[in-house]
Amino acid sequence: MNDCVFCKIVKGEIPSQKVYEDEEVLAFHDIQPAAPIHILVIPKKHIASLNEVEKDDQALLGKIHTVIQTIAKEQGFSDNGFRVIINCGKDGGQEVAHLHFHVLAGMQLGEKIV
Ligand code: AMP
Ligand code: ZN
Repeated sequence: MNDCVFCKIVKGEIPSQKVYEDEEVLAFHDIQPAAPIHILVIPKKHIASLNEVEKDDQALLGKIHTVIQTIAKEQGFSDNGFRVIINCGKDGGQEVAHLHFHVLAGMQLGEKIV
């Protein structure tokens, strides 16, 4: 957990381009954007992945959805729409072991799998 890059971003040990912050949630721009707008929304609490979510996290994870809605309005992409992705584990392609919601916007997103 100490080596977790997103925990370091939460603590300010690694810089990030923040777009939203409150006591429980942080959002910042992805360093390798896959779309014109690519924001990562994370709980400040270290949760390694969806596999590690606990019942006590339900309110926090629910809240993140309203945070995403707020960000979409503030950043001006709510009307055009956006996509939210969570990768989990090896087959899901998760590279950073700290739960994060990818928010992609700013273009017609292709390659729909579902
Ligand atoms: P995932 O593959 O779902 O684990 O996504 C990890 C994401 O974190 C990738 O899109 C990376 O580009 C992004 N990322 C890794 N390190 C940083 C960082 N220091 N600041 C911002 N985004 C990062
Ligand atoms: Zn972490």
